[in-house]
Amino acid sequence: MIPKSHPRYQSLMIRELIKEGVEKGIVHITGLIAHGRGEAFDYLIGEKTQPFAIKAIETAIAYFKIAKNPIISVNGNTAILAGKEIVKFANKTGAKIEVNLFHRSVERIKKIIRLLESYGGKNILGLEGDARIEGLEHDRAICSYEGIYSADVILVPLEDGDRCQALKNMGKKVITIDLNPLSRTSITADVTIVDNVMRAIPKMLEMYEKVKEPEKVIKNWDNRKNLQEALDFICNRLKNMFK
Ligand code: ATP
Ligand code: MG
Repeated sequence: MIPKSHPRYQSLMIRELIKEGVEKGIVHITGLIAHGRGEAFDYLIGEKTQPFAIKAIETAIAYFKIAKNPIISVNGNTAILAGKEIVKFANKTGAKIEVNLFHRSVERIKKIIRLLESYGGKNILGLEGDARIEGLEHDRAICSYEGIYSADVILVPLEDGDRCQALKNMGKKVITIDLNPLSRTSITADVTIVDNVMRAIPKMLEMYEKVKEPEKVIKNWDNRKNLQEALDFICNRLKNMFK
């Protein structure tokens, strides 16, 4: 048991969640490594949703508001850390949910679907595997025809850079949540929310009604400029740490 008084209590509890996710067969073992990388960047941004992330969240919401066929792609880490809020967001916006795994396994997809259903998720896609993300080899290309394949706007937290590029090549608007502003995913996506998925999804729920003019928000969006803001923020924070 981790004592509540531990200064890193929250971070340790999240590690515990991810660890349990691995034990339950929901998180792939490599999810531990992805989590560690994310944690390091979370330290750098101060473990808070910063103004650059708020702007990206606003734009992500704008895309959901104009989308005809939006979808949220969920993997093991995302399901464990933000599954409940993702179900709420999908119910609010009418977006579909597809469980889509980089390391695809039918057993793991079933477990994640069951977890999301326990939070009230309905008609969760992912098991069909009846279409492919164009231009990718191996199982990581498999997706649902009704889901990712036909979607116009896709939210893919913690995505792989190669797959993000392939989704873009299919003409989709790609929104990601990635703590690392330097990852290929962050650079390739249309909207990168540089924040922890645990904080970002609840914030998307909270801010949803506040975004009134989605076309205007999208028109004014420059993803690389926002990524630069995130990097500048980190640099300034570090430069002034002990001053
Ligand atoms: P890319 O393939 O996009 O270049 P990568 O190979 O560096 O990225 P991956 O392991 O493919 O990294 O993807 C995992 C990404 O998810 C990492 O960039 C990591 O920072 C991010 N990440 C991990 N945990 C979280 C979290 N809780 N919230 C948001 N992002 C996270
Ligand atoms: Mg990668």
